[in-house]
Amino acid sequence: MTESLGTASEMREALASGRTSSVELVEGSLERAQASASNAFVGLRAEAARAEAAGADARRANGDVRSALDGIPVALKDNIAVAGEPCGCASRILEGYASPYDSTAAARLRAAGAIVVGRTNMDEFAMGSSTENSAAGPARNPWDPERAPGGSSGGSAASVAAGIVPVAFGSDTGGSIRQPASLCGVTGVKPTYGRVSRYGLVAFASSLDQIGPFARTSADAAAALEVIAGHDPRDSTSLPDPVPPYADALDGDASGLVIGLPREYFVEEGVDPEVLACVREAVTELEKAGASTREISLPHTAHAIATYYLVANAEASSNLSRFDGVRFGLRADGRGLSELYRKTRSEGFGPEVKRRILLGTYVLSAGYYDAYYRKAQQVRTLIRRDFEQAFAQCDLIATPTAPEAAFRIGERSDDPLRMYLSDVYTVSASLAGICGLSTPCGLPGGLPVGLQLLAPALGEPVLFRAADAYERRTDWHARRPGEGS
Ligand code: GLN
Repeated sequence: MTESLGTASEMREALASGRTSSVELVEGSLERAQASASNAFVGLRAEAARAEAAGADARRANGDVRSALDGIPVALKDNIAVAGEPCGCASRILEGYASPYDSTAAARLRAAGAIVVGRTNMDEFAMGSSTENSAAGPARNPWDPERAPGGSSGGSAASVAAGIVPVAFGSDTGGSIRQPASLCGVTGVKPTYGRVSRYGLVAFASSLDQIGPFARTSADAAAALEVIAGHDPRDSTSLPDPVPPYADALDGDASGLVIGLPREYFVEEGVDPEVLACVREAVTELEKAGASTREISLPHTAHAIATYYLVANAEASSNLSRFDGVRFGLRADGRGLSELYRKTRSEGFGPEVKRRILLGTYVLSAGYYDAYYRKAQQVRTLIRRDFEQAFAQCDLIATPTAPEAAFRIGERSDDPLRMYLSDVYTVSASLAGICGLSTPCGLPGGLPVGLQLLAPALGEPVLFRAADAYERRTDWHARRPGEGS
């Protein structure tokens, strides 16, 4: 089988020097995807990808190179629309549905010459932290196939960790890029809310959803984000600010950066002590790179999970009302409209999605709205203010990404509350709308652990600068599954 060339930067050089072609790179990705036991993909677009790769090679021969991702194979989560392809959100309810249009992210990747080789596995409608809630069956962690890759973008994380593609895209509503990146030992970025267009991303919680990249290095993630980011008139929450050249931030230097360490995130309770030790060591490494640290406080942290699950489920219950058996995908037989709705939704949605819709409908209903939904919005404001106050004292914040390394498949399926706690370190940044990144910072017991860095809105350059400085001093991001720790 064709050996993986590794990072997108390595592939870019090999393409530029003529040592490889896009056709060869895409063929390699398709072969590895088919041979992989990770169940990272729910569908490959082999023929289209081969044809697009041939087109990229032909353009390159004429000196037309469009971006850092030109000719490079990438993967998209199954909730990001590509024209003419299924967009199933790993749900039965979207069986048979194909998107008639490109999401803005897919359109920008296409314009940049990137080749989408397939759609990646996920928790149904992005609800979960393990990629077990999938109509296609669980994805597996390349570091240990008995363990979950995290979620909900577990297929995208696994596809990069397994070396199938150098770059994949997922969506992060409360941690769904950062947490699987942590569990799979890759870099993952949740951009600032509004930085990447949500047009063509199937909505879960519209005030939180963001598309972002997974890669083997922060440099690759920066290049990938640059391609998809930027204003889009088709998403009214899209930010007008121009996208800076993220690569310029990668100078290997963290000097002058003040890193805040939130007191509330470094308590021993509910977190594996080995995870905390890895994160503390990573912070020390950043200090060696010139950063300084100070303790900060995010006082409303304890309320973040409850707030997130109220807000996200309320929005989900509304967003998912469109899957009714009339407009998209699956349609069950029913006498009359109500029965058709009921049967389609009963058969089409999995248990976690049903739980969320029921909870979300409840917290929005008359009589409970004030007690739950309105209260959650108020606490969300307090959480946002926590970060505003913290960022008056520091440039970025360092925390663990997830409380523990990859857990076993099946271990949490019957305990939704325990599963929700996988997101304790990630949901606050989502509620505040700021940006975050996870980069590998250790392999206790042979399983990856991630360092989460958070920066204020539009602070992506500072995230990339710090993560790149860290990666240049360590080799956790370069470790591959099966190579031992
Ligand atoms: N795990 C969280 C949830 O289940 C976050 C999901 C996400 O970010 N899409 O809601």
